Amino acid sequence: MSGDRAAADVRELNATRMKKLLRPFECGPIQLTGANDALYERHLMFDNVVDPLAVGPRERYEAVARSVRDILSQRWIRTEQTYDRENPKRVYYLSMEFLIGRSLASNVANLLLDPVMRQFTEEKGLDWLSLLEQEPDAGLGNGGLGRLAACFIESMATMQIPAMGYGLRYEYGIFRQAIRDGWQTEQPDNWLRYPDPWEVARPHEEVEVTLGCSFEVRGGALVVIPGEPSMLVGLPYDRPVVGYGGKTVNTLRLWAAAAPHSFDFQVFSAGDFVGALAERLTAESLTRVLYPDDSTSMGHGLRFIQEYFLVACSLADLVRRFRRNNDDWGVLPEKAAIQLNDTHPSLAVPELMRILLDEGRLGWDEAWDITRRTLAYTNHTLLPEALEKWPLRWFEVLLPRHLEIILEINHRLLGDVRSRFPHDEGRVGRVSLIEEGDVRKIRMANLAIVGSHSTNGVAAIHSNLLRTVTVKDLAEVFPERFSNKTNGVTPRRWLLLANPALAATITRAIGDGWITDLSQLERLKPLAGDQGFLSEVRAAKREAKIRFAEWLRSTSGVEIDPGTIFDSQVKRIHEYKRQLLNGLRVVALYNRLRQNPDLAMAPRTFFFAGKAAPAYRLAKIVIKLLNNLAGTIDGDPVVRGRMRVVFLPDYCVSLAEKLIPASDVSNQISTAGYEASGTSNMKFMMNGALTIGTRDGAAIEMSEAAGEENFFLFGLTADEVARSQSWYSPQWHYDNEPETRSALDLIFSGHFSRYEPGVFEPLRDTLLMHGDRYRHLADLTAYLDADRRLLELYADQDAWTRKAILNIAASGRFSSDRSIAEYAAEIWDAKPCPVR
Ligand SMILES: *Cc1c(COP(=O)(O)O)cnc(C)c1O
Repeated sequence: MSGDRAAADVRELNATRMKKLLRPFECGPIQLTGANDALYERHLMFDNVVDPLAVGPRERYEAVARSVRDILSQRWIRTEQTYDRENPKRVYYLSMEFLIGRSLASNVANLLLDPVMRQFTEEKGLDWLSLLEQEPDAGLGNGGLGRLAACFIESMATMQIPAMGYGLRYEYGIFRQAIRDGWQTEQPDNWLRYPDPWEVARPHEEVEVTLGCSFEVRGGALVVIPGEPSMLVGLPYDRPVVGYGGKTVNTLRLWAAAAPHSFDFQVFSAGDFVGALAERLTAESLTRVLYPDDSTSMGHGLRFIQEYFLVACSLADLVRRFRRNNDDWGVLPEKAAIQLNDTHPSLAVPELMRILLDEGRLGWDEAWDITRRTLAYTNHTLLPEALEKWPLRWFEVLLPRHLEIILEINHRLLGDVRSRFPHDEGRVGRVSLIEEGDVRKIRMANLAIVGSHSTNGVAAIHSNLLRTVTVKDLAEVFPERFSNKTNGVTPRRWLLLANPALAATITRAIGDGWITDLSQLERLKPLAGDQGFLSEVRAAKREAKIRFAEWLRSTSGVEIDPGTIFDSQVKRIHEYKRQLLNGLRVVALYNRLRQNPDLAMAPRTFFFAGKAAPAYRLAKIVIKLLNNLAGTIDGDPVVRGRMRVVFLPDYCVSLAEKLIPASDVSNQISTAGYEASGTSNMKFMMNGALTIGTRDGAAIEMSEAAGEENFFLFGLTADEVARSQSWYSPQWHYDNEPETRSALDLIFSGHFSRYEPGVFEPLRDTLLMHGDRYRHLADLTAYLDADRRLLELYADQDAWTRKAILNIAASGRFSSDRSIAEYAAEIWDAKPCPVR
């Protein structure tokens, strides 16, 4: 795709436009002869009205970013014009999270502007890397689910699919993590403190959202007033989604909540001026902050309203767009495919029904058919604590019409199930949209499955468990609706951009077709036996490690040795991901060195990074443990230079982009059956890290693709974990495995917490006392064994690099382009619509 004529044309056109930016700034009247004549200096001086000689790095970043936006603007407009004219089927990706990260480098790369930008920054005397660091991460997500949404919209733009992302414009994204005395602290992420050059407010396209109740601020608390409907306004903020080659520029539309323009004039005339304005504050607080919970539903009322707000704004917007070009409601499923990223937007089921019934005046059967054929649902987790269930009472107060519709859907569903599965009232109770009990609740996953035509899991093992265990009864009612779509990541951000040395090495070997067709990496396989290629790949890894070490030193003062093995585990901190198991491995290895200082063991740096949900006490204690391991091991002369532990604070997309290319070892060690897919596993694989991990999530498919002999797999399988309740005894492992016992003894002796007695006692409880649901000790010995094999291989540098190359060569399947191709063909029936 990248080599064809259209791409060359765009490249040339953009280069010409960019060259105009290079023209010296003349201090005469500015001639704006066309929208292309954006001048960096013009932005620099006029956007913030400052003397170009006195501007700081932030202003320079903004001016460069705005110049790049100028370059893509016409293509962005043209993209929408093409869709409007050709009226293709559009894909709408609804997600409460988009973990975008930074945009400048990614947009420049996808516009093929790298060479021009290099020349430009040179001429202007700008330091490109420090310019990039000025951009805050758009951290509108917690982890994998939000990052998947970001990779998917990039892939859809690259593949020229007419698609739009819909999300919320949180004023504060995922909190910023700082470590104080080893503990996580949370700071607000005020990412919009400075104007964001990428977003375009579209006040003319605002939508109205009606709620069944009103709110009032009384004494600082939010009070619900039932029975008094109220209105909210959704203001769209659009962000460009640039496909590789710059041909298609799709839109990510994020909604901000606002109060209606019409003030309550009665309140005004009654003299409550401040009260009327306070109501405005209440409305705007709805999109103030992202909920920082990953794989857990906290059941907060505000979150429930956020979810409805996303759904109501997005459906109103897409229905309005649909009605502009189509007057027959019946063709909606041929013009729109709506993908629900987890159950968070599953209120789309009753909302679309409401629109079709009450606004479209359709009959129930027709409305139901259209709704189901338009919606599709992706499940992201099997953890029961993540399955959303909202109190029926909330629907009564906030969304009474939606409750009526849900009850009617349920009535019909249960009737169907009773006739198809007679004498099976157990099943009826389990498939019902309502969970009975003291507090009656709506089961959002059941609603999403029943109200859509497709339910997919995100890796083969996950889709199977979903279908055969988690929602078995519903899957037996609707077997044809279930499928698997294994996740992927975009190779543009995660290889081309993040790892320039390796990307160049690959391109020298096989050309640059891999950038948009990652399966071409297979052509690297024969080169695994080529000495020259081996040393090039090794040199690329070395370069990434030095680059990372240099960045870390300059930003935090922490010095690490690029000559050591970089062994990483970076992801949300959660018991099921088992950072604690990795901590135990580190302690066991530390014990080996303490007991035998002459032991030959390749020097290693263990990296950890990740945030814990602020209310997740145990995860925060794990962070504390990892930080204390780092401190104690650093201070121990016996192991100096042989092992180090580094906890990198504030894990985010831009940190992942730096660390992953530099890593030799990827730890993917979740309790088998718990990690739906994982995506950092794929990023590491593409970047030539070897995986040590359990047979879980997409790692199973990754090891099949690369060959199990090129992976370090260990531990219980999902089947074994599921059947381990009867035999798992943590105490047995403590009593019978010397390394397990001495690792635990060292931790609980206070060796790592000399002045903080008892801080780690809760870990003893969870590991040894309460049967540990996550089976840490069952896998520790096998982990250490796999680690031994890994170190043996590392001793033979050529053998190691050969396996790394075989992993890279097999990573093509884990491009999000492949995932999107499957969604497009098997769920959406969506086709490319090239921009003309
Ligand atoms: C890829 C990514 C994730 C997902 O990591 P997993 O190991 O798959 O859980 C989370 N956070 C960030 C910043 C990422 O880039």
